[in-house]
Amino acid sequence: MSEHPRAPHPTSPLPETTDVLVVGAGPVGLTLAAALTARGVDVTLVDRQAEGANTSRAAVVHARTLEVLETVGIADELVGVGVIVPRFTVRDRDQALLTVDFDGLPTRYPYTLMVPQNITEEVLLRRLRTLGGDVHRPYEVASLTQDGEGVTATMASGETVRARYAVGADGMHSTVREHAGIGFTGDTYAQSFVLADVRLEGDVRADEVMLFFSPAGLVVVAPLPGGRHRIVATVDEAPEHPGLTDVQAVLDARGPQEQLARVSEVVWSSRFRVHHRLADAYRAGRILLAGDAAHVHSPAGGQGMNTGIQDAVALAARLGAVLRDGAPAGTLDGYAEERRPVAARVVRFTDRMTRIATTGSASRRRARNAALRVLGRIPAVRRRMAMNLSELNAGGHA
Ligand SMILES: Cc1cc2nc3c(=O)[nH]c(=O)nc-3n(C[C@H](O)[C@H](O)[C@H](O)COP(=O)(O)OP(=O)(O)OC[C@H]3O[C@@H](n4cnc5c(N)ncnc54)[C@H](O)[C@@H]3O)c2cc1C
Repeated sequence: MSEHPRAPHPTSPLPETTDVLVVGAGPVGLTLAAALTARGVDVTLVDRQAEGANTSRAAVVHARTLEVLETVGIADELVGVGVIVPRFTVRDRDQALLTVDFDGLPTRYPYTLMVPQNITEEVLLRRLRTLGGDVHRPYEVASLTQDGEGVTATMASGETVRARYAVGADGMHSTVREHAGIGFTGDTYAQSFVLADVRLEGDVRADEVMLFFSPAGLVVVAPLPGGRHRIVATVDEAPEHPGLTDVQAVLDARGPQEQLARVSEVVWSSRFRVHHRLADAYRAGRILLAGDAAHVHSPAGGQGMNTGIQDAVALAARLGAVLRDGAPAGTLDGYAEERRPVAARVVRFTDRMTRIATTGSASRRRARNAALRVLGRIPAVRRRMAMNLSELNAGGHA
């Protein structure tokens, strides 16, 4: 992932006091700041980077995320810039083992939306600015202390901000989580992931997210805006910048055989290592966690950013209730009660998918494929998969 050089001077001075300090302006911090600003809560959003990241990363936006983004006022705009995909299939080479249709789900958005993360972040930032907010850059929170009245954050550059509450939306290696003394329990997968946005030639579907199971590892092929496709694959040791031949080799070994997909261009690529970890708590006094700071898991199913954005909207409602409507501070415990089990479920679900997908021996693979074909004929199973993948099971839907 490319990072911009640190700017020599901050873009805007920090206030001395604020109601909510949000640390980290990734998709989760941006959503939280916009949702709080829309509720009339005084927010200060800081990020240590001089500019927002401009890389593709998480490319899937699920139905439940679009539903909650309605409250921030950007669902329609996001749908307008993404690719609507009505179907998800699990395949073993040319055989479809399981087809999950999102049609008929109880939502205004019965599909998966494909949109690169930098575009989602741009839409969120525009909305935040329209509401009168912005990101203070580059400010790195170096330490946090709290007492009964509030939180004092000290920046690496020496400034301090006093806030009634602070939220760590500062990603997997969260400084906020560390200073709150909250553990991050879990482990790291042995494999790394290749990630590439490519142009493909050949008869490649643009109406479906395809997950290919293979003994060598899984590979996802999904359409993106502009006629591109996203490829995600597990490998033992991914090259730092996967190139055309790396991606082609993965597709040749694991993808369709009858209609070969030819990579004609790699537009962007990266590699990353995946962990499955969950914060031991989402709240320590006046400090709260959201997004990757609170949970990380396999990208199978594209749930990472989605779960984080949903955290942000849920937390904004509770902080708004406490700070604007006089609800007791204990209301904030409901945030963890609501959202931590969802993340635990996503960690379990994606872990199971990742392990099933990479089953190695031929006999286990045959048994897995046969079981999936049988399960795939049961409408209730397909619907449950669709509800899980779209995260509608987390939103009070049947
Ligand atoms: C290469 C790559 C590929 C990915 N692919 C997928 C995918 O295909 N599907 C999927 O679902 N997910 C994917 N993810 C994960 C997804 O990007 C994250 O789930 C998502 O970005 C989480 O958002 P966030 O806002 O919680 O954290 P982040 O996006 O990590 O944002 C955290 C922000 O906090 C800032 N920050 C950190 N520390 C401090 C500090 N001390 N002070 C101030 N600011 C700070 C950082 O600069 C950053 O802007 C990928 C991630 C990577 C890196």
